[in-house]
Amino acid sequence: MVKADAYGCGLAAVAPALWRAGCRTFFVAHLSEGETVRARLPEAAIYVLNGLPPGAGPALAARGLRPVLGSAEEIVEWAALAQGRLPAALHVDTGMNRLGLPLSEARALAEDPARLRAAGIDLVMSHLVSAEMPEDPVNARQIADFAAARALFPGLPASLANSSGIFLGGEVHHDLLRPGYALFGGNPTPEAENPMRPVVRLAAEIVQVRAVEAGAGAGYNARWTAPGPRRLATLSIGYADGYPRAASERGRALVGGVPCPIVGLVSMDLVILDVTEAPEARRGAEAVLIGGALDVDAVGRAAGTIGYEILTRLGSRYVRSYVE
Ligand SMILES: *Cc1c(COP(=O)(O)O)cnc(C)c1O
Repeated sequence: MVKADAYGCGLAAVAPALWRAGCRTFFVAHLSEGETVRARLPEAAIYVLNGLPPGAGPALAARGLRPVLGSAEEIVEWAALAQGRLPAALHVDTGMNRLGLPLSEARALAEDPARLRAAGIDLVMSHLVSAEMPEDPVNARQIADFAAARALFPGLPASLANSSGIFLGGEVHHDLLRPGYALFGGNPTPEAENPMRPVVRLAAEIVQVRAVEAGAGAGYNARWTAPGPRRLATLSIGYADGYPRAASERGRALVGGVPCPIVGLVSMDLVILDVTEAPEARRGAEAVLIGGALDVDAVGRAAGTIGYEILTRLGSRYVRSYVE
């Protein structure tokens, strides 16, 4: 899964790296993302998850992109264009009620082999609602419904598991896995230790350090006032970089390994840290916002959101350097 600019990591660099690692099938959300992958990977199978917008068939076909068809209208429109010569995936809904044919409509399609052939279906897939919560009974229902759905299309490969689904066990795996978050270091098993290694490290430079007296305010609206003499460091990062404003007064950054609280409001281009306990804080030093003890899941929690949102909002002003 490389949608959302490969979870904020940079699709143009990540897709070829995954290809070199042996990945041959890629999923994106939009045609434009598919175009970026296609330009770099002429031989990859690229599926577009958000399906077939009205009239978009020729643009997808011209780039060799495969829509994930999720409604009867999409199937009719694609079949008319494809005439059995262009591949596509079929999304069967098993509980999300977001995309995909209901099981009853999938059954009707299975009983219409001419239409199925014309639509070029080469993969049957569905998506799990609560895979990160293994004890949720919806998992067993979806696993059973998907088994029934795939049985309607004998001979077609099938795919059900996202990152967390992979860790639910072998009956979820079928023929093709669709990991996203876990590929980029997120924890697919939130109730247990993260089995994945970290991928993203985010650091910002300290612009200046200042000493303040008790009672001094910091940032817009002086939402924080110093409870005593403090050293404050101003970082060159802000919500315009995708660092969440919701992390104001709740998030942390590491300076020389010392966790330092964010004080006051996160501003557009700047963040203020209390570095009183961090002797290494000085102009030009680095503050780590994601990395080490601050994994992406922890950063999400501090901002009242999930690590997925932290990754997919990694900003366009950052200098991305890739370490292989
Ligand atoms: C995003 C997405 C995935 C990947 O989910 P992760 O939880 O990031 O692994 C898999 N399948 C579909 C249909 C998706 O939209």
